[in-house]
Amino acid sequence: MESQAESKEVNVRVAVRIRPLLPKEKLNGEEVCVRVVPNSNQLVMGKDRAFTFDNVLSSKTTQEEVFQLCVEPLVKSCFEGYNATVFAYGQTGSGKTYTIGGGNISSLTEEEYGVIPRAIKQMFDIINAEQNISFCVKVSYVEIYKEELQDLLDVDKSSKEIHVREDDKGNTVIIGAREVECSTLDEMMSLLEAGSAVRHTGSTQMNEHSSRSHSVFTVVISQTWTEGDVLATKRKQSQSESIDGLDEEITHNTCAKFHFVDLAGSERAHKTGNVGDRFKESVHINSGLLSLGNVISALGDPKKKSTHIPYRESKITRILKDSLGGNAKTVMICCISPSTASFDESLNALKYANRAR
Ligand code: ADP
Ligand code: MG
Repeated sequence: MESQAESKEVNVRVAVRIRPLLPKEKLNGEEVCVRVVPNSNQLVMGKDRAFTFDNVLSSKTTQEEVFQLCVEPLVKSCFEGYNATVFAYGQTGSGKTYTIGGGNISSLTEEEYGVIPRAIKQMFDIINAEQNISFCVKVSYVEIYKEELQDLLDVDKSSKEIHVREDDKGNTVIIGAREVECSTLDEMMSLLEAGSAVRHTGSTQMNEHSSRSHSVFTVVISQTWTEGDVLATKRKQSQSESIDGLDEEITHNTCAKFHFVDLAGSERAHKTGNVGDRFKESVHINSGLLSLGNVISALGDPKKKSTHIPYRESKITRILKDSLGGNAKTVMICCISPSTASFDESLNALKYANRAR
């Protein structure tokens, strides 16, 4: 039997991940204000505010479990030609970067690796086990800061050189961003590390810059196979009975991309008390998150089906356009801190995530 989530027409799943209290929060005597209802996909904030999501991941959930539950199925569909997007939403400090895996990788044990290193490892495992298909894997890594694109794989490039376009087939392309072909996992890991380092050391205060920008790590997988090669392999294995219907001359191509998105912090502009430039930044960030919320909620609303989905309202939704909803698979991981000190922000994040369902 199909699960409820699978039978939903729109391929948007929403998971909530509650991180553990950090050592310094424990030292401060902060307390936990959220609990998971055992054996369910429900959580309760404070006394009685209950929420239900596709997955509720308690503070004990490991990185491997998050990957297996939320992302592994998307990697598999990517090889079947479906675009995919996984994004982390939540206030600064809630665990987005830890979950997505675009932090300082060299400081982590393999067990602590987030989603990206695990997903790309799985991609190369699949590729290396395949005999009849030839693959081309390319990666790009950009950041959106104040509605401008920055290339994390080429720091010298001016943001004016990078644009989002839609080609005649409706595919979204980022023109001008460096795209690197990788033939090994190591190569791709190095690019992830280098790009992430730009993001996390590029500013004076560590979390300052990354909390105000969205980062998008994109892997494009192209596959080519000929029925002739499959025939040759099958003949070698003398599986003559299964070669009917294959034609030596026919070549197949598929291409799909996987976006891994670490969104800007969801904390409200008013809370940071920003004025001037900082305030303008907050407005940009929030308009990106707002329009992403609008797009996802419109995708989930059957009444709005095929009518206007407001992709054009921000850079982040323009970039993700062909990888959200429709034929694409999308997972939103809403990260929350368990601490009473974050109650209001966590509640806001859960409301945002709830709209996406
Ligand atoms: P964000 O990117 O949302 O600002 P981070 O991913 O940087 O948040 O996480 C904030 C801190 O909490 C970091 O020190 C991180 O290592 C830690 N942390 C986040 N999630 C977890 C988790 N599930 N288990 C252990 N530590 C975590
Ligand atoms: Mg972060």
